[in-house]
Amino acid sequence: MQAEKDKVVSFHYRVSEVRDSGAQSAEVETSRGRDPMSFLFGHGNIIPGLEQAIAGHAVGDTFDVVLEAEQAYGKRREDFVQRVPKKYFRDAAQLKPGLATTLSTREGPRSVTVLKVGSSVVDVDLNHPLAGKTLRFEVEITGMRDAAEEEIAHGHAHGIDGAHHH
Ligand code: ZN
Repeated sequence: MQAEKDKVVSFHYRVSEVRDSGAQSAEVETSRGRDPMSFLFGHGNIIPGLEQAIAGHAVGDTFDVVLEAEQAYGKRREDFVQRVPKKYFRDAAQLKPGLATTLSTREGPRSVTVLKVGSSVVDVDLNHPLAGKTLRFEVEITGMRDAAEEEIAHGHAHGIDGAHHH
């Protein structure tokens, strides 16, 4: 079985940033130490460059892929800065410049980075924290199965075993 549309693929990953100099930075994020990530292939559930890299791989495969920002979390937009009333933050009292937090928006929760904290408003950067970065993904495919009809209908995987729903 190989990764293609309508398979549920599970994988472990390590992400690190690749700097302009070519030097690799420390790890940004990893799934090691917790459950592997599971997703329904071919339904836009993970960043496009990573899905493309996983295509055709089988359980047990390990590989590295370097993705430019355009294939990962997109370019940084310098105009993506907004002034938001503090009431939209659950953790308003703890906000500090540089901190990543979650903002409730009409489209659902959104990761933002705090730039400046005023008495009643907060300036936030709406760019994804990894936007504009070239990233190296080290991937190990750990599981694969056919998706259930319900998963295909929903457009997402229901966990590694397909049993639970969220
Ligand atoms: Zn569902």
